[in-house]
Amino acid sequence: MSGKYPHGVIGTSYHANKHTELAALSAAVIDYAQERIRLAPPLDKPLTEAELIESVGQTITPGGLGGAEAMRIFAEDLAPTCLSTDHPRYLSFIPCAPSDAASLFDVVVGASSIYGGSWLEGAGAVYAENLALRWLADLAGMPATAGGVFTPGGTVGNLSALVAARHTARRTARDGVRPNILVATEGAHSSIKSAADVMDAEFAGVAVDSAGRLTGERLRPVLLERGPENVFAVVATAGTTNFGIIDDLVSVAEVCREFGIWFHVDGAYGGAGLAAPSIRDRYAGIEHADSFIVDPHKWLFAPYDCCALLYRDPAEARAAHTQKAGYLDVLTEAPEWNPTDYSIGLTRRARGLPFWFSLTVNGTDAYAAALEHTLSIARFAEEEVARRPYLELVRHRDLTVIVFRRRGWEAADYHRWSDGMLADEFAFVVPTTHDGETLARFAIVNPETSIGDIRAILDTMA
Ligand SMILES: *Cc1c(COP(=O)(O)O)cnc(C)c1O
Repeated sequence: MSGKYPHGVIGTSYHANKHTELAALSAAVIDYAQERIRLAPPLDKPLTEAELIESVGQTITPGGLGGAEAMRIFAEDLAPTCLSTDHPRYLSFIPCAPSDAASLFDVVVGASSIYGGSWLEGAGAVYAENLALRWLADLAGMPATAGGVFTPGGTVGNLSALVAARHTARRTARDGVRPNILVATEGAHSSIKSAADVMDAEFAGVAVDSAGRLTGERLRPVLLERGPENVFAVVATAGTTNFGIIDDLVSVAEVCREFGIWFHVDGAYGGAGLAAPSIRDRYAGIEHADSFIVDPHKWLFAPYDCCALLYRDPAEARAAHTQKAGYLDVLTEAPEWNPTDYSIGLTRRARGLPFWFSLTVNGTDAYAAALEHTLSIARFAEEEVARRPYLELVRHRDLTVIVFRRRGWEAADYHRWSDGMLADEFAFVVPTTHDGETLARFAIVNPETSIGDIRAILDTMA
C-alpha cells in the first residue's frame, strides 16, 4: 500500500485502477445517501444479534470486501434493522427529524475533515456554528456576551454546564466552603442525576407543585435547609421529556438570584419552543439563565448528534474546561474562540454545522412555521384522544408530548400493542410509566407526522 492510502483502505485494494474504484465507490455511497434523504424511508425493525450473525456474519477481513460489497451489506442487511427515527409514525422517546438541508450537509461535514475544536484549525466552521448559537441565545434573551459550544447531546451539555457551575461556585465561595449540592426536581431528566454521580456531587430533590412544575416557592425552603452556600447549581427544565412540562422559570430565576446560585435551564427537548411565537411567553425567565441547553437533534430538525450549550458568562466556562498541555499552548494561549474550552472533550466534530446550514438555507421563519405545525398536530392528537371514549388524557399538554390511557388496559396490553405495531413496521410508539402506571405517549417533533398518522395509530387501540 502506498500513496494516499485511505482510498486504498476503503477500496478493494490499492493499485493502478484506483480512480475507477474511487468513482464507483463514491457513486455507491453518495447515491445511497441521496436516496435515503430524498425518499420516505420505511420504519424498519431490529433483528437479534443471532439473526445478524446469521445474515451478515463477519465483514472485516484481511483483504477487504471492496466498496460495492460493503455498501450492499449496509443497505440490504444492516440499515433495515435500524429504525428510521425520522419516520412520521416514530413517536417514541424524542424522535429526530432532520431537514433535508441539514442531512445533506452532514455528508459534507463528514467529507471535510474539519477540526471543530479550535479557531486556528476550524475558523470558518466555528464562526458559522457561533452564528447558530447566537440565534438561540437571542431567542432566549441572553446577553450579547453569551456564547458556548455544540456538544454531542444534552447529557454532555448538562454535565459541562454543571461542571462550570461548580467550578464558579467554588472559586467564589467563602474560605472553608466547598459547594457540592445540585438542586433539581425528582422529575428532572435522568442525565442530571447522572451528572451528579459523575461529579460525585450530592443531588437534592425539590417536590414539584400541583401542576408538575418547579417553582421558586418550592425551591426556597430546600435551599435554606441545605444552606444556599453549599449549593452550586439549580436546574430547571424547559420541557420535561415525559410530559413536556416547563418549570416556572421566572420564580426559580428570582430565587437563584436572591442567593447568588447558578441557574441552569435544561431545554434539551422543549427549548426549541423558544422559536415558536405562539408559546414563547411560557419561557419567560429563561433570559436569566447562567447556562442553557437545547438539542437541535430533537425538535430543531438537525441530525444526531447535536446539543447547543450556552453560557451567560463564557469566561467562567473556559476557566473550568480549558485543558492545559504543552502541545496545546499554541491554542490555549490564543485569544480566539476555541469551542473545546466550553465543554467536556477535546477533539470535536463541527456538529453544529448541519444545523447552521439548514438555518441559513431555510431561514428562521421556516423554523417557526415547522414548530407551529408540529404544535398543531399535537393539539389535534390531544383533541382526538379526548374525543374517543376508550381513551383518556392523563394531563393537559404543554408542548408536543401527549400522555394518555387506554381505558381497561393493563401494562401487558400496552406492550403487546406497541410490539405489534413495530413488528408490522407500522409505527413505533413505546409505552411510558407515570406514578407506577403504564400509559401511552406520543412525542411529536416531525413536521411529516400528519393527522392521518395520529388517527391511524389511535384506531389500533379501539
Ligand atoms: C433528551 C434529554 C436530555 C438528554 O439529551 P441527550 O441528547 O439524549 O443526551 C436531557 N434533558 C432533557 C429534558 C431531555 O429531553
